[in-house]
Amino acid sequence: MTYRFYPSLRQSGIYKLFLYCLLTVAAMYIYELLPAKKMLVVPSANIPHYIYADPNSAGEPMVSWTDFEGLAWECNIEDDGKPHTCGFNIFLGGGQGTEGIDLTSYKTINVDVNYSGSDQRLRFYLRNYEPGFSDINDMQTAKFNNVNVPVKYIKNDLVLSLSEFSVAEWWVTQYAAPRENSLPDFRHVIAFGIDLSYASLPGKHNFKLNRLEFVGEWVSRADWYLGILVFWLSAIMIAGAVSLARLTKKVRLEEQRLERLANQNSLLAQETDKYKKLSMIDPLTGLLNRQGLSEYIEQYFPVDKEKLVSMVVIDIDHFKKINDSLGHEGGDLVLKQVSQLIQSNTRQSDQVARWGGEEFVLVLPDTRLDDAVLIAEEMRALVATYNFDQFPELRVTISLGVGASDGKIPFHQLFRRVDMALYEAKAQGRNRTISASV
Ligand code: GH3
Ligand code: MG
Ligand code: MG
Repeated sequence: MTYRFYPSLRQSGIYKLFLYCLLTVAAMYIYELLPAKKMLVVPSANIPHYIYADPNSAGEPMVSWTDFEGLAWECNIEDDGKPHTCGFNIFLGGGQGTEGIDLTSYKTINVDVNYSGSDQRLRFYLRNYEPGFSDINDMQTAKFNNVNVPVKYIKNDLVLSLSEFSVAEWWVTQYAAPRENSLPDFRHVIAFGIDLSYASLPGKHNFKLNRLEFVGEWVSRADWYLGILVFWLSAIMIAGAVSLARLTKKVRLEEQRLERLANQNSLLAQETDKYKKLSMIDPLTGLLNRQGLSEYIEQYFPVDKEKLVSMVVIDIDHFKKINDSLGHEGGDLVLKQVSQLIQSNTRQSDQVARWGGEEFVLVLPDTRLDDAVLIAEEMRALVATYNFDQFPELRVTISLGVGASDGKIPFHQLFRRVDMALYEAKAQGRNRTISASV
């Protein structure tokens, strides 16, 4: 049998982490597979272009088309000891008079050009309109970004990188370009051109431009990687928000559950309290029962507290006979009535209880024995003279035992003595009050 002390790889979530890393690497790799962004300029229909050169001594231009449709031209530079230029220009994005075309998303230019002649280098250029600096209608004020390429590289698969281009020194000087305009810029390119490197060698130079194509990327690498980063950051934030929301909901549900439990608890407590109270009340008379009296005594006469108190124990005389003549229900009515009479003759601070059967106990706090005897006698007279509505003939008497304590004897002992006094009252013929000898 094998025991696991560590979480399994699956549980630890390391698989997920590995998967995310893999996804990230894959997303980075996908960039390499994205199709290139291409713009084909030549061959193409009707893009404005022209050739240019200085005039020779006869006043004729030193350049001519050898195949206008096929973009082939010939420079014939006169050997007159002066520097000359000769070249080809094609407009981009509307050309002169416009703000040109943004080439910043292109990286390279495929130039398929045939050249035969004696020059060592050819010059390629991109004219860029500079907002706020160039005159939109003057081609010469557009920034001259150029690169000089030795003719040995001029083959049909020549690839120029935009990063090879630099701003021509003569252009910066001639137009006194401020510093911010002296760096290559391809945001407003209005023309591409090929010419002989200035000044050109005398003789014939033949050109044929077969293809001109700009190649770049739809999304830059930096943007692609930034996209991946933004994606993960958003994913982390969303996941965080979702788990926060879940947690909040869970906490709220838990709080509601606790509240419900607390409510149930308090209901239960109320119920318990209700039944506890009911268990201490005698249903027939509404007085405290024996249990209720015990609780009362425990609460107001604790064992360790010395307190003056009197006690009266009351028993209805010959109740059996009353029961016999009036029936049990009649007996109950008498019991109820007598308990009301007793109750009506007590003070707010006194406590009456039905001890059992037709026997009652009266507790009189802060009452001395003689006062308790007076109260007992009043009660006896009250009952003896009372006319019961339902039973006009009926005469009821009670016997009472009275006692007092200064708290030095326990309550049950006081009760025993008072009960003995009651017994004495019975023995002496009933309908009387006897004080206990303390
Ligand atoms: P004594 O003067 O010696 O007290 O005589 P008594 O007949 O009153 O005393 P005893 O204790 O012999 O009888 C009490 C009777 O009270 C017995 C019982 O049937 C009756 N009794 C006890 N509880 C109730 C009650 O709740 N209702 C009714 N109707 N009668 C009860
Ligand atoms: Mg009795
Ligand atoms: Mg009795």
